[in-house]
Amino acid sequence: MAGAGGGGRLTPARPAARAWPVMGTMFEITVWDPDSARARLGLAAARAAVVRVDSLMSTYRAESELSAVNRRAGTDSVTRLSPETVAVLAAALDYARASGGALDVTVGPLVHAWGFDSRDPAVPPATTLDSARTLVGWQRVDFDRARSTVRLPVRGMRLDFGAIAKGFALDLAVAALRDAGIRRATVDLGGNLRFLGPPDDAGREVAIRDPRNPADLLAVVEVRGGAVATSGDYERFFVHDGVRYSHIIDPRTGWPARDIEGVSVFAATGMASDALSTALFVVGVSRGCAVAREAGVEALWVLDRDQDTERIVVTPGLRYRVRLLRGRTELTSCTPSAGSGGWRHEGLK
Ligand code: AMP
Ligand code: MG
Repeated sequence: MAGAGGGGRLTPARPAARAWPVMGTMFEITVWDPDSARARLGLAAARAAVVRVDSLMSTYRAESELSAVNRRAGTDSVTRLSPETVAVLAAALDYARASGGALDVTVGPLVHAWGFDSRDPAVPPATTLDSARTLVGWQRVDFDRARSTVRLPVRGMRLDFGAIAKGFALDLAVAALRDAGIRRATVDLGGNLRFLGPPDDAGREVAIRDPRNPADLLAVVEVRGGAVATSGDYERFFVHDGVRYSHIIDPRTGWPARDIEGVSVFAATGMASDALSTALFVVGVSRGCAVAREAGVEALWVLDRDQDTERIVVTPGLRYRVRLLRGRTELTSCTPSAGSGGWRHEGLK
């Protein structure tokens, strides 16, 4: 029942799907196009776009632009950036401002102190944490947008685009598909989704996984297009003394953010949904509801469950677009209160 659009007599195209490992996850594209040669070209162009973002912005690649920036931290040399990296850095700094510093791409030293860039993360000694904290702060990034250059003023500072680059890569992938003449596609980069073109007759639904049992679903959300990203405490974490520590760090405290199991953000672009899902994971519901409204996105939080309450909170625009799949889940919508005092810290004591 795939809608071929336009009411012509086109037979509904069978989708062409491919998947590749990239950016530490899987990139999966599904393209609907009656012309299989065009579909193939589109798939290749979309893949090339994602590979390019990875080669520019990965901190796991010594030859990336971000690695060059990080290596020169504390020296006088500036690094000249590609237009793509300029776009992501400029957006990241805007989201940092909009979220009161909850999204902070200078969080790299903290990610490193907790070992989330390694195989065995652990609670760091207090001294390690203290020195990492002195190296974090988006306001200190010396970014000259007009000249496309950046410099980190202190040795040891590190940029980490882990919270935003996948969403941006999806946007470039969709642009590449569009340029190739593709009109309908779905791209998925490790759970960040973006849609191109109209949904089929059944509409489009996005499943919300149970963060405590990701094979199981909690709810489905009707979406109209655009992008969806989810940040969860189940993606990378460890448990120590019964406490779960996840890879999303509250830059203000230096500790992993708590209270939320997962956040999904529904936005027009991949980059907005990716950046804001991480930011709203850190700020939680009360402040996050206002941040989401200011940014013009919708959000869904799965709150940390104590023994028996299982609660989903959504921004008002999602209230009637969510279908719960379990009787015991409670659904409420948040109220964005303007001027709610900016940053409200809800991290660890
Ligand atoms: P995501 O899965 O999009 O929520 O991004 C999480 C990744 O972003 C982590 O693995 C870190 O590399 C990085 N990160 C962690 N905390 C933050 C933060 N508060 N702001 C920006 N990036 C972060
Ligand atoms: Mg993100």
